[in-house]
Amino acid sequence: MSKSARRCQIYDTTLRDGAQGEGVSFSLDDKVKIAKALAGMGVDFIEAGYASSSAEDQEVFKKLASMRFGKTKIVAFGSTRKKGVSPESDPGLRAILGTGAKTATIYGKSWTLHVDSVLGTTPEKNLEMISDSVSFLTDEGLDVLFDAEHFFDGYVEDDGYAIKVLESAKDAGASTLVLCDTNGGSFPKHIENVTSDVVSRFGRCVGIHAHNDTECAVANSIAAVHAGAMQVQGTINGYGERVGNANLISLIMGLHKLGFETIGKSKMSGLTELSRYVARVVNEKHNPRLPYVGDRAFAHKAGTHIDAILKLPKAYEHITPELVGNKRRTLASKQAGKAAMLEKAKEYGFKLDAEKLDSLTKLVKELERQGYEFENSDASLYLRMAESLGIYSPPFTVTNYVATDNSNKYQSVGMEVQIGDEVVLTTAESRKGLIDAVRKALDKALAGRFSGVSKIVLEDFRVMDLDTERSTEARVGVWIRSKCGSTTFGTIGVSSNMLRASLDAIEDSKKYGLLLLSGKVGKAR
Ligand SMILES: [Zn+2]
Repeated sequence: MSKSARRCQIYDTTLRDGAQGEGVSFSLDDKVKIAKALAGMGVDFIEAGYASSSAEDQEVFKKLASMRFGKTKIVAFGSTRKKGVSPESDPGLRAILGTGAKTATIYGKSWTLHVDSVLGTTPEKNLEMISDSVSFLTDEGLDVLFDAEHFFDGYVEDDGYAIKVLESAKDAGASTLVLCDTNGGSFPKHIENVTSDVVSRFGRCVGIHAHNDTECAVANSIAAVHAGAMQVQGTINGYGERVGNANLISLIMGLHKLGFETIGKSKMSGLTELSRYVARVVNEKHNPRLPYVGDRAFAHKAGTHIDAILKLPKAYEHITPELVGNKRRTLASKQAGKAAMLEKAKEYGFKLDAEKLDSLTKLVKELERQGYEFENSDASLYLRMAESLGIYSPPFTVTNYVATDNSNKYQSVGMEVQIGDEVVLTTAESRKGLIDAVRKALDKALAGRFSGVSKIVLEDFRVMDLDTERSTEARVGVWIRSKCGSTTFGTIGVSSNMLRASLDAIEDSKKYGLLLLSGKVGKAR
């Protein structure tokens, strides 16, 4: 295959199709920032939004027009003209021109069912709508990509007509014919066969726009590329209509693995941050199970796996995490052996001899038997290990507490905290429950005695019933996620009493946060 045949264009539609996903909305500012990040990544096209839908979208284009994006092209999106209207007087097409974008993508119908029952026109008139809409824009000097909506469904019903649709767009000057699996119901074999047919007729000026309703959007896009398509469309993290679009990050990396050239290898190390950044803007938790860039993409738990990757990462990793800017993690767990413990200790900066390694492995096994799970609470594991090694002594200890629930009106807690030689007594009330009252009482005791302690903030709280091995007594685990400056970390408490478990997790949060503030630990989770 020639070099050009190995080049595949990356077309991002996060700002348009991605924004059509439930719960996703971007402000003007968000859109500009995301466009900048995408351009920095070197994508070929950024579809910045519907040209006609709102004044705000027009504003986005205006703003983007004033910025430089290197080789990345900003695309205005819209549809073919309405029936019975000339292209010149069609508000949608006029709005595309109004954006000032030099590239436009317009969609048109390629499924007779839609032409007939949704659009309510004749097949011939639909072809005219496509043809004169495309030529209207190309005559104005725009590069026009044509999105053939429902192409793969349309091809099944009437392949002759679906091809005619593409012919109309191509003859009118469309540079790229984008085959859309709009309903996302197709599978790779079908996509590959149909794309092959299209490429054999029109050449490689073909793109693929796949939705993920069969969870095959990425596979379908890759199948189209194998069949000769030279452009893939998708969104960061796969946001989009219904269950979403093809995840562009998985596509970029998949194509790279298959030897196709896209954004360039040096840019790929920014993909994890890009994925996290867009999730933050969308205000959605970053999915840890995302391939390549998720928190768990290179997390190893089984002892045998960990033993092997410590010798040879390739043994259980299909790419190196660094390639996408991600990190390898080993999880301390029931399934992990001494090798994992050693790796963890190395991560924490502990020096272990055989004897210490042995005692730490025993300690963790015992804690796990009691129901502790350290996968999401590395900070508690750090504290237990450091304490057991004698290199850490807690700056404070809660020695006693009394909790009173005042008939659901408010809750109060009295607490005794040992800080050095001093015994501090505090009380606190809350209307949000006992756990909140406990947190407040401890905050009061620590405030003024440890500088910066107010910077340690609890972010997330999770309670789970535990199924412990030998214990007959029911136990609960409480996981807390905390933030201190830019670092987030997890702690855990386990007890038969939920308040006690919560207090333990809160205590660990403060203790670890204080270590972070003192600069005594570098990293954490
Ligand atoms: Zn779509």
